[in-house]
Formats: sequence, C-alpha cells, structure tokens
Amino acid sequence: MNPEEIMEKYERYINPSSTRLFRFMGLSSVEARAEGWTITDTAGTEFIDCLGGFGMFAVGHRHPKVVEAVERELHNMPMCGKVLFNSPAALLAEKLAEITPGGLQYNFFCNSGTEAVEGCLKVARLATGRKKFVAAQNAFHGKTFGSLTATGRDLYRDPFRPLLDGFTHVPFDDIAALETAVDEDTAAVILEPVQGEGGINVPADGYMKQAEEIAHRHGALLIADEVQTGIGRTGAWFGVDHDGARPDLMAVAKALGGGIMPAGSVIGTEEAWKGLIEAPFLHTSTFGGGQMACAAGLATIRVIEEEDLLQRAANTGAFLKKGIESIAKEFPQVIREVRGRGMMIGMDLTKEGAGGMLMALMIDRHVIVAYTLNNPKVIRIEPPLIMPEAVAAQVLEVLRDCVRQVADAIDDL
Ligand code: PMP
Repeated sequence: MNPEEIMEKYERYINPSSTRLFRFMGLSSVEARAEGWTITDTAGTEFIDCLGGFGMFAVGHRHPKVVEAVERELHNMPMCGKVLFNSPAALLAEKLAEITPGGLQYNFFCNSGTEAVEGCLKVARLATGRKKFVAAQNAFHGKTFGSLTATGRDLYRDPFRPLLDGFTHVPFDDIAALETAVDEDTAAVILEPVQGEGGINVPADGYMKQAEEIAHRHGALLIADEVQTGIGRTGAWFGVDHDGARPDLMAVAKALGGGIMPAGSVIGTEEAWKGLIEAPFLHTSTFGGGQMACAAGLATIRVIEEEDLLQRAANTGAFLKKGIESIAKEFPQVIREVRGRGMMIGMDLTKEGAGGMLMALMIDRHVIVAYTLNNPKVIRIEPPLIMPEAVAAQVLEVLRDCVRQVADAIDDL
C-alpha cells in the first residue's frame, strides 16, 4: 500500500483533522522499521529520532537485548494467567524497588502513564483517608479523568467538566504557593520533577525535596510523576534523584517498556500501600504485570546499567544543550531560552509559528522533533539515551541550518 492510500485511511477511519494537520506540516511518510536512533520510512528514507516517542525509547528502537527478553516470553507465556505467580513480574518489582529512592518497595503494574497516575491518586486517597490534591499549573499527568483533573491545562480539561473535586493548581517551582495550598485535608501533592509537556520546565534545585517536606509536615504524601523523567531520561534513574527527594508514590511508564511493550507501574512505600495491603483487589488490571511487559522492563533496566546509559545521557545531554545554547546565542530572534536536564531538552521559541516551521524544516532534513503538548512554542529534543555524540553533532548542524531559515522568515510568522 502506498503512503497516499494509508493517509487516506487515516483521514477516513482515524481522524481527518489530525491527518490534515500532519500533512500540512509536510509529514507524508509511513514508518516501515526502526533501529537504535533511526526510523526508516517505506521509501527507504532514514530519519534521526530526536523525539524518542515522547520519551519511551530510552534504550532506542528494538534494542536486541529487550527484543530477546520479550521474544523468550512470547514463546513461553506472553500474558499472565492472573492466578498463578509469574517470574518476570517478581524480578521487575524487585529491581524497581532497588533503583527507586529508598522506601519505594511495592509495585502495581499497569500499561500506561495515565494509568500509573490514576493508581497513585487512588492509593494516596486510600492511605490518607483524605480527598484533596495539590498539583502544578501547566502540569501534564495524562488524559483519563483523574489524571486529567491533575493536568494543569484548561484546553484539555474544559470540554470534560465536571472533573474530580478537590484539586488545586499552584504555579510550578513556587514553594510559597505550595506552602499556602497544602493543608490537613490534602491527600497528596503531585508533581513532575521536570515538567515535560509543560515545556521542559526545570525547577530550582531542591524543589522536590522541599515539596516532600511540606507534604509530610501536613501528613500528606508526595507523588512524583516520573512517567517522562523516569528510567534515565534526565541522566539519573529518576528525576527526584537530582534533589535526593523521597516521594511516597511514583508513577512510571513510557521507557519502562523498553520501547517494545506498553508498561507502567505505581510504586509506593509500605506506609502508602497499607490500604492496598489490607484490600489488594480494590485496584486491579487485566493486562498489567504481563510476562512480556515485565521482561521488557527488566531487560531495559539491565541495558541501562550495562551500557552506562545514565552517565552517557548526562554527557550527551550536556553536549546537546551546550550546542543548542550556542545556536540560541546566534539567533536570539528565534530561540528565547534553552532548558533541560540530561536528554530532556527544550527550546523555548519567540513565536508559536516558529515552532511549527522549525519542526517541519527539521523533518524535511530527516531529523524528527516535536513540540510539547501544553506549550507549542517549545520544541523538545528527547533522543534515545544511546545516541552517540557524533550523531548529536549531526543533529546540531541540521538544527543550526533550520533555525537560520526560521530567522529569515521570523517577521512573517
Ligand atoms: N505523565 C507525564 C509526566 C507524561 O509526560 C505523560 C505523557 N506524555 C503522561 C503522564 C501520560 O502518559 P500516557 O500517554 O502513557 O498515558
């Protein structure tokens, strides 16, 4: 089937307006295969993947060790029977308890980021008997009802009101605002250690640690949404590691599936888990904890350890950020600010139109980037952590050329 026929089917059976939008931006390729940091389309064109599936391809596309682990389970027993015990789930739960900050011991496996956040919200209410939550403006926690209520963008929320009661949104990276909002009725404070879809917003050092202290002083829990920052993205296992913060609950997904399986986990301390220990069937999932997904998670974590990907992500991320900062200095009329930590970098542009143009130009030069969901003025760079510095240098070259073209057109955007 040629790309035109596939796009027609998208238009007809998936969504006409999103299909037209992508086409308008010059996207007309159909992906055929992928490996490492490269996606190849049906015409044989190779793209460098600097989006990394919104952060899911930490170990790249089709990492052989993750493929091998998943294949082994595929030919044994791919999904759990839900009654007997399964070894990949036990091993992954133990491994996650080992790499998460101290005290996070118990896992509830699910299949996506939004489910992991929903689980955190429910477990927090169960553990505290309280109903209120404090979240951050501009946060992104997912799009099912609970996580959507926590998400801090009205554009996504307003059409679906009424949402859940009891949520307050405070400015991100504002400790005084948290102090005012958290009280004796608060079940939990939910925060991303670095806001991803909000525009790659990195808070001041110590923010998560202070949030933990404020929550605990009022008997509330701290939920870290590590769906995007977790599993190495920021150059540490988890975003909270930069502050030494110890959340009571953590939501993990995206990279946990190694770019091969959908996988997520709600991870909590014994104290946070007490309601679920008493009544384990209050929260359940048919697909969660399947052998293929858990084997993918375990293999992914092992690959990160064996290939020293935390250090590599920190180094390549710093190299990319420095390069982008120098481009920003050259073209301040296009790039207002560069923010990021590890391999999670955002370019805050001067105009919204510049984002669309830069994205289209980069893709035309075969480098895939995209803007952040809550902030279309920010173009994000989130490549697989395995990307070598030489490829990152190539990306910077293309970026400089494309930013130059945007600069030439900036007055008309
Ligand atoms: N939390 C965060 C921090 C995210 O970045 C995302 C997805 N971008 C989600 C939750 C939702 O994840 P999913 O799309 O897998 O539901």
